[in-house]
Amino acid sequence: MKKSYLFPTYNKYPVTIVKGKKTTLWDDEGKTYLDFMSGLAVCNLGHVPEKVKMRIQEQLEQLWHVSNLFHTKAQEDFAEKLVEISCADLVFFCNSGAEANEAAIKCARRYHQRVLENGRYEIITFEQSFHGRTLATLTATGQKKVKDGYLPLPEGFVHARFNDIQSVRNRITQKTAAIMLELVQGESGVHLAEPSFVLALSDLCREKGILLIVDEIQTGIGRTGNMFAYEHYGIEPDIITLAKGLASGLPIGAMLGMEKLKDAFSAGSHASTFGGSPLPMAAGLATIETLIEDGLFERAKKTGAYALDRLRNDLQDYPVIRAVRGLGLLIGIEFDEPVAPFIQELHQSGLLVLQGGTHVIRFMPSLYVTHDEMDKAIEILCHVLSKWKAAQVY
Ligand SMILES: *Cc1c(COP(=O)(O)O)cnc(C)c1O
Repeated sequence: MKKSYLFPTYNKYPVTIVKGKKTTLWDDEGKTYLDFMSGLAVCNLGHVPEKVKMRIQEQLEQLWHVSNLFHTKAQEDFAEKLVEISCADLVFFCNSGAEANEAAIKCARRYHQRVLENGRYEIITFEQSFHGRTLATLTATGQKKVKDGYLPLPEGFVHARFNDIQSVRNRITQKTAAIMLELVQGESGVHLAEPSFVLALSDLCREKGILLIVDEIQTGIGRTGNMFAYEHYGIEPDIITLAKGLASGLPIGAMLGMEKLKDAFSAGSHASTFGGSPLPMAAGLATIETLIEDGLFERAKKTGAYALDRLRNDLQDYPVIRAVRGLGLLIGIEFDEPVAPFIQELHQSGLLVLQGGTHVIRFMPSLYVTHDEMDKAIEILCHVLSKWKAAQVY
């Protein structure tokens, strides 16, 4: 590789990708890969999905950017669609997951401070959570590694234990404005929230007048077998945050909120130059329509269940595997040891997977992934595991 002029914020794999189609990627030497990373759960419709591409091309001919000082049809249409498919009533558009969570935090504080006038500002989040890299969202994140060297951090964030309602109760004070969580903690290794915990949390929020914010940045847009993960739990969050899969790869973020939050923001109280610009709006609407038209929820549910079954069965013989868990096509395979070297081996064998925490491999293929592709991926995984086992014995 020649000299790079980028800040060294990423540990890049020694591969240059030049092309993608559906669940396959090509590198600059013509080698193909089975892509079970989907660009970090972004390409839920696979690479370069035809219907989305056509809608982006149409928009490209019409209008690129005018700012939020004007109405655009693309933005109004997409907001209407998001309200139609969710329990929310209002949408704020931005450009990334962290920005969507920032908007949620700001909205929760403004609601309590300007609408209810009770001065509340504290946000309870969870250990092992991940909410982004801006100063507020890395403070919300329940992991030390993202905070190192960034002091001082903003005030008003408290962490509770995931799946432990008593721990949440203990952290509620007169100042608690909102509780924010991922229903499946993706980045830290695919940890699922227990249904009884989520129901108790939702009840607790109603009882205490606390807003419930669900971070669906990774779990949303069909990833778990429903449009949103909250649907699995039978709850209705006050705020939902989205990004990653929302526009099939164009930068986008969105905060969705209930009607009662309408007056939390007034004109000028929050804004984004690029948020809601026509290209990602067109891509987003086409993404949602394609998901529904092509029945991708059902498909993700089925392929996900099939994969969990096969993985649990086929990985029994490998003592290094500690657990297999998942929801839809967000699957985690937990190892007894750090997985980083193992992931390199998988990449060399043509299977691209993502790390979760230090000990978990994440399978997050496109929602179009076929049974054959799933079989192939599991075959590669078992093959590399066998080599690994052999190397440790001798
Ligand atoms: C990726 C992610 C974020 C941050 O999104 P960015 O677009 O990288 O800012 C926040 N929350 C969750 C759950 C995520 O998976």
